[in-house]
Amino acid sequence: MEEEILTRIEKLSGEIDFLYVDEHIKIAYGYDATGLRGLCGGVAFPGDLGQLVQVVKECSDRGIPVFMRGAGTGFSGGAIPLGGGLVLSTERLNRILHFDAEAEEVQVECGVVNQELQDFLEPLGYFYPPDPASLKSSTLGGNISENAGGPRAYKYGVSRRYVRSLTWITSSGHLMRTPPIGPASLLIGAEGTLGIIYALRLAVLPLTKAHSTSFLEVRGAAKAVAFASYLFSRGLAPSVMEFIDGRTMRCVGEYKRLEGLDDDSSYLFVEIDGSVSEVEAQRRLLESLCLENDIQMRIAYSEDEREYLWELRRAVSPSLARRGVTKVNEDVSLPVGRLEDAVSFIQAAVSELSLDCYIFGHCGDGNLHVNIMTDRRRTEEMERVAIFVERLFTRVVRLGGTLSGEHGIGMTKSRYLSYRFSPAELGLQGRVRAALDGDGLLNPGKYFIRG
Ligand SMILES: Cc1cc2nc3c(=O)[nH]c(=O)nc-3n(C[C@H](O)[C@H](O)[C@H](O)COP(=O)(O)OP(=O)(O)OC[C@H]3O[C@@H](n4cnc5c(N)ncnc54)[C@H](O)[C@@H]3O)c2cc1C
Repeated sequence: MEEEILTRIEKLSGEIDFLYVDEHIKIAYGYDATGLRGLCGGVAFPGDLGQLVQVVKECSDRGIPVFMRGAGTGFSGGAIPLGGGLVLSTERLNRILHFDAEAEEVQVECGVVNQELQDFLEPLGYFYPPDPASLKSSTLGGNISENAGGPRAYKYGVSRRYVRSLTWITSSGHLMRTPPIGPASLLIGAEGTLGIIYALRLAVLPLTKAHSTSFLEVRGAAKAVAFASYLFSRGLAPSVMEFIDGRTMRCVGEYKRLEGLDDDSSYLFVEIDGSVSEVEAQRRLLESLCLENDIQMRIAYSEDEREYLWELRRAVSPSLARRGVTKVNEDVSLPVGRLEDAVSFIQAAVSELSLDCYIFGHCGDGNLHVNIMTDRRRTEEMERVAIFVERLFTRVVRLGGTLSGEHGIGMTKSRYLSYRFSPAELGLQGRVRAALDGDGLLNPGKYFIRG
């Protein structure tokens, strides 16, 4: 079957001049941020809506599977092609189409990079709240398809909240323009398995007037997330509440050449925003709660200092990359009050299994990124990693959490779906998929266990 699909794509490349079958392009587009690799028969780069519809229709008529790809920053293998299908890259669909200040909304093509939208909006006095840490490279189409969150999600929510309408294409190539209700609402977070998003009408917000940014140092990782929960219970309402454990911060320290960091301290990165008086009142509350609880607090007193603290937060992923060849990155999500239990459990489990683990995440909305740095070639160690992941998911579900806060299910987590969903729930999801993509041509092998 794979051979047959490769032949069909080869033939199609003779008819579509924006479809490439060169070996080096197929290899480059076989990966995403997981580092896993798939096989594709070609990569298409449509430059406008007409070309996008054309290629989707051709693939539907010829039974060629389609793998949508934004920037390939996904952490669950969502954009990885399997079984020789066609990768459909959105990188040339990168126009900001229209801005309407009165309606506070912007229309964009799916391949616009999140940061480019922020850069466009800022001089106009607006911002788009969903801000995944990958915002400098990930696309809005990828963000919506993963329902991406980010540091600001605690206050502003995740991508779904900002979608006002979608222009999308069905698996058989029909163009739809709809608000996100009915089938279109299912496309948000569907990881490219139910439809192809061409353009989005997104809500934006006026820039906030003031902010206050600080780093808190807490002894012990479980105590740090418990302190975050305590701050919320005492009325603190920050826009950002990020957690970084001591081991992760030490990596950041090595990467950024900082001194005086030790593994026993963990960190909360807190940003408050709003009107000048709101920020002042919240900052005073935070200061007094830290003082009462003997927690060290470093406040940014200038824009440069604020930028420096953000740089430390953004340095987390690149600094970890130096720790191992393979990063097994699980982004579980839990009720905030259960984070302390989860962190204690993770620390005990990795210690028992002798694994190199780093924990951080958007703890304001219950999101923990649990990173095991390892090497796929060390078979026995990978077996211990698999045991850990099973234990982690079992515990998280028992604590009322989910398998993924924002990175999606893709191909790396689909085998664990039954930990979270009953057979009846999984059956219902399969029927939705069959209704929207009866031939299973959109991103087969992802999320849905049977492709
Ligand atoms: C350093 C780093 C930090 C990150 N931080 C965060 C974070 O803070 N929050 C967060 O949520 N995620 C984060 N991520 C994960 C990732 O960036 C997000 O999932 C992002 O939304 C993926 O966007 P992308 O353009 O790279 O999509 P891709 O990885 O290319 O694709 C992701 C999925 O979307 C589908 N897709 C893409 N475009 C379309 C389309 N137009 N129509 C239909 N389906 C489509 C693909 O088929 C795939 O299933 C991070 C990743 C990295 C590498």
